[in-house]
Amino acid sequence: MSWYSGLENIVERDIALSRLTTFRIGGHAGVLLVPEDVESFAAAYAAAKKAGVPVHILGWGSNILVADEGVPGVVISTRGLINRTLADDGQTIRVEAGASMREFVRWSARAGYSGIESLAGIPGSIGGAVVMNAGALGACLGDSVSAVWYVTEGGELVRRSGEDISWDYRETDIDGPVAAVEMELTRDEPDCVLDRMADALMARRSQQPVGIPSAGCFFRNPPGESAGRLIDEAGLKGMSVGGASISARHANFIVNQGGATAAHVCELGDIVRDRVRDCFGVELKNEVCVWPSAVA
Ligand SMILES: Cc1cc2nc3c(=O)[nH]c(=O)nc-3n(C[C@H](O)[C@H](O)[C@H](O)COP(=O)(O)OP(=O)(O)OC[C@H]3O[C@@H](n4cnc5c(N)ncnc54)[C@H](O)[C@@H]3O)c2cc1C
Repeated sequence: MSWYSGLENIVERDIALSRLTTFRIGGHAGVLLVPEDVESFAAAYAAAKKAGVPVHILGWGSNILVADEGVPGVVISTRGLINRTLADDGQTIRVEAGASMREFVRWSARAGYSGIESLAGIPGSIGGAVVMNAGALGACLGDSVSAVWYVTEGGELVRRSGEDISWDYRETDIDGPVAAVEMELTRDEPDCVLDRMADALMARRSQQPVGIPSAGCFFRNPPGESAGRLIDEAGLKGMSVGGASISARHANFIVNQGGATAAHVCELGDIVRDRVRDCFGVELKNEVCVWPSAVA
């Protein structure tokens, strides 16, 4: 009997993770579980933990570089967790982890909820955005999260208040798979929120490469500095290794021009790190999550 006995209806086997990431790079997952509700998400995680199987949680794959060899153990996807409900107070919105961040920002603006409109256009899921504390134009998602529901190793769903979470630059101290998020947004005229959202989208389109596979900014900005500016001033824009290139549009984007492998991206990343260290004495750190990683 396999460790996922009872969960066979949500199992997919030997799945190319390149199809599930925006980089379009990476090897296979031997076992991919795609739960369709929060309870089976919790059960899947608990079953894997009980069996000692390494786990990776996959949102929409917009901030991941998967190794060419794939990942061991199991990948649990949140893409089936998409419900959204409004509490009786008319203020708190509960969104499941696999819901689209872009779609949620759009829905909020149209419904006259303000607070996250400057995050318009960030790809990925709500769960991924919470764990990464995704942000843009000086705002980040953590500013508007009132609580997070996460799963313990025993499969319990636990509510943690947003105030108790450390919301740092592109990281948090949430240490379990996020199943759902409670958002507290303020009310405003839909037209005003939509205007601010349109401005944020315009700023994004003018700065980032559009329509070319990537995982967004590859490196974290060092304190008080822009990684993109350092990479640009080190003369690296346009440099390639195999199918991986430094975007000519935004130097902190490594893009897949076609046929890039994870090995190409890692080699290019190492070149960038070395050159920036030599030129400016600054150590760049990855923003993109490299899989396999320390497992969830
Ligand atoms: C073109 C482009 C532009 C981008 N612009 C921005 C930007 O402006 N600002 C910004 O902050 N980011 C940006 N990103 C990066 C990315 O979109 C965000 O980090 C996003 O929030 C990741 O969400 P995801 O669902 O795709 O997560 P994934 O890529 O699937 O996962 C990222 C990490 O989060 C973990 N994770 C995902 N879901 C869960 C969960 N439910 N529970 C526990 N762990 C989980 C994964 O295990 C992994 O470690 C951009 C990416 C692209 C491709």
